[in-house]
Amino acid sequence: MSAVKCPKCGSDSGYYTKRRVTLNTAYDFSGEAWDSEVHNDSNNGGKIKRCCDCRKNITAFVDGLPAEAGGKS
Ligand SMILES: [Zn+2]
Repeated sequence: MSAVKCPKCGSDSGYYTKRRVTLNTAYDFSGEAWDSEVHNDSNNGGKIKRCCDCRKNITAFVDGLPAEAGGKS
């Protein structure tokens, strides 16, 4: 567990990021899906860090933390 708390609401639940992915689905001509494939687009998203509890953007706060506390290494 980390002692770091959200600067907005004081929660220690941590933060989350969103990543955009593309899901390609293949259908046959009866409309039945027979294959699907997830493509990760690493250039999209994943950079904005939000508090798990208040969902406010705390990217600058998290990036300013020392690496051992969950910040940038
Ligand atoms: Zn919060």
